[in-house]
Amino acid sequence: MTVAESAPRFLTTLAEPAPVPPLAARARRVGGSPVRDILAVTARPEMINFAGGLPAPELFDREGMAAAFREVLADAPAQALQYSTTEGEPVLRAALAARITARGLPTTPDDLLITTGSQQALSLLATALLEPGDTVLVEDPCYLAALQVFGLAGARVVAVPGDADGVDPAALEEAIRRERPKLLYLVPTFQNPTGRTMPAPRRTAIAAVAARQGLWIVEDDPYGELRYDGEPVPWIAALPGAEDRTVVLGSFSKVMAPGLRLGWLRAPAELRWACTVAKQAADLHTPTLNQLAAARYMDVLDAHVERVRAVYGARRDAMLAGLPAALPPGSQWSRPEGGMFLWVRLPESYDTLALLPRVVEQNVAYVPGAPFYAGAPDPSTLRLCFVTQTPEEIAEGLRRLARGLGG
Ligand code: PMP
Repeated sequence: MTVAESAPRFLTTLAEPAPVPPLAARARRVGGSPVRDILAVTARPEMINFAGGLPAPELFDREGMAAAFREVLADAPAQALQYSTTEGEPVLRAALAARITARGLPTTPDDLLITTGSQQALSLLATALLEPGDTVLVEDPCYLAALQVFGLAGARVVAVPGDADGVDPAALEEAIRRERPKLLYLVPTFQNPTGRTMPAPRRTAIAAVAARQGLWIVEDDPYGELRYDGEPVPWIAALPGAEDRTVVLGSFSKVMAPGLRLGWLRAPAELRWACTVAKQAADLHTPTLNQLAAARYMDVLDAHVERVRAVYGARRDAMLAGLPAALPPGSQWSRPEGGMFLWVRLPESYDTLALLPRVVEQNVAYVPGAPFYAGAPDPSTLRLCFVTQTPEEIAEGLRRLARGLGG
């Protein structure tokens, strides 16, 4: 047979390709998100966006950051543009360890793994700790992207009942006995989404339960430095019984800039090592240039955080001042001492997911509360971010919200 004769048959085979193998089960489970679809319009300039968890861009220290990058590229270009170690740049880990120690948690550079945002730390922990089918305990409501990480790892996510102070220790103990979980995931300070902070006695009780029952605690703390009033509360990782079983996650996103994608994980040696191997497989290391620039910038970070705190505190106050007139009678909301979010519960007849399209028509947006719940959702809740807009924009946004809610 000549080449010419064989060609058509070859083409016929190509025209009817066999289907490719399916996605992994964990990827097939990940559906679309109706909330994400509605909120896609919030990028429009006329929109006052209380939905995104975005730091205020006008507060980014452009000049300070530019100076840090310039200096690093001038002084150590061969290092800054080169591959680095998976653990992270020693100079950054040293500066971070000193900062964490000064905040009340004795830490050495070797205790730390630098991650590509603290979001990566969550994925690394899931890889290092979770088999498909393992159980993870969470607060209700819980940070959305943590639910996503645990879901992708094939974990069963179980919500522990709590109150305005966070997870209830007795309910936690009962859930551990019943569910035999691997870990408890908490955002104890200025929680995303509620803004609430777990008081010290509750932290002590949670640490005691974890010690008695044998449980990992993940203490996710991206907001702790953004305190506007009240007194700092000790880290769970610093409490007796919790030291050897608590992983602390931190981030540069809220105090420096999220675009740097810089975070960190502080964990006991064996778990930290497993996370380091998982990170090596994921991305080898976090960008060297960003790490070195951040290490330089840490010299002036305190002054920057001070500026951010003053502005954000005023924005929180502006939102708290505007809420009574904006929300229907009978609404309740949290009064966070720091962070970026507050949590609203409208009267029971309101469904914030169903109302969102009408609210977005008014050029203002919130995140409905339902997706944050691993347990039974409360459809009348919503999350507002108070840091991205000026007080004037916040006041206007709340007037629009009142109109959207039918006020
Ligand atoms: N944890 C919590 C509770 C968060 O709110 C966020 C950011 N929204 C992250 C982790 C991830 O932050 P990053 O990856 O930017 O450090």
